[in-house]
Amino acid sequence: MSTGVSRAGEPELTEVADGVHAYVQPDGSWGYSNAGLVCAAEQSLLIDTLFDLDLTRRMLDRLGPLTGPAPIGTVVNTHANGDHCYGNQLVADAHIVASAASAREMDEVPPALLHALKGLDLGDDGDRFVAEAFGPFRFDDIEPTPPDETFSGSLELAVGDRVVTREEVGPAHTAGDVIAHLPGVVFTGDIVFHGGTPVIWAGPPSAWRAACRRIGELAPAVVVPGHGPVGDLAAVEAMDAYLAWLESEVPPRHEAGLSVPDIARDLDLGAFGDWSDRERIVVNVDAAIAALDPAHQRMDAVTAMVEMGRYRYRR
Ligand SMILES: [Zn+2]
Repeated sequence: MSTGVSRAGEPELTEVADGVHAYVQPDGSWGYSNAGLVCAAEQSLLIDTLFDLDLTRRMLDRLGPLTGPAPIGTVVNTHANGDHCYGNQLVADAHIVASAASAREMDEVPPALLHALKGLDLGDDGDRFVAEAFGPFRFDDIEPTPPDETFSGSLELAVGDRVVTREEVGPAHTAGDVIAHLPGVVFTGDIVFHGGTPVIWAGPPSAWRAACRRIGELAPAVVVPGHGPVGDLAAVEAMDAYLAWLESEVPPRHEAGLSVPDIARDLDLGAFGDWSDRERIVVNVDAAIAALDPAHQRMDAVTAMVEMGRYRYRR
């Protein structure tokens, strides 16, 4: 059984625009995701719940002074990863919305699967990695609470007297990524890891880059990433730069016949090596090869954990 130590500091709640709040959990690494709250006259919109019930409860308590006069009427899950939706049962009275592709993915990766992952024997590197990445969170008491409305494309949502646009930009990080925006602010979900390495569970990288361009077109002053501190378009440009680098560096090594872990080890991360969670390069190389070669089989989740552990501890 894995156990881990929490790296989380005290979450920060920041008003990034009039009545628009970002809830940021340090240090933004595995599982420490962000959320958002848009307050209108008599109701609020919550963007994402958190990885487990304790974290989500703590957030809802912290939001209490805002949601007392303007209760949460609607929740948008930006995507299906548990750190953005496993707390849904604590807001089950609200209307919960996600993309149709995300809703399907939520069914495929229930909390019980993450709980089971922590109990597997993955060898020294795999066990240590799973303990560090997922050990701090509790998955055995979560009741999966799927969205009650799904959509594809783009949808405007009235929150009291304000309008928040939900726009599907996936597949990129996952199959059904959604951004939520209103004038001046974009909540990017995991299209942006600010100061952290992106992880391409779905891809292709080119679709993720298109999502970055879409965020750029919206020209927000404020970018609330899925992980890491609140930023601006520079955080989006940094994601695009990493993905462009991946698209140029992986093909020649794949053509030379190197395996996914060998390509990952061969790559010089340069300045990207300063970002947290560098080991995601293994999954990202795998995704970049899948984009080149339709016959390439993506590695399964368990293999990905083992290979990321090897990269993290042995490189
Ligand atoms: Zn996340």
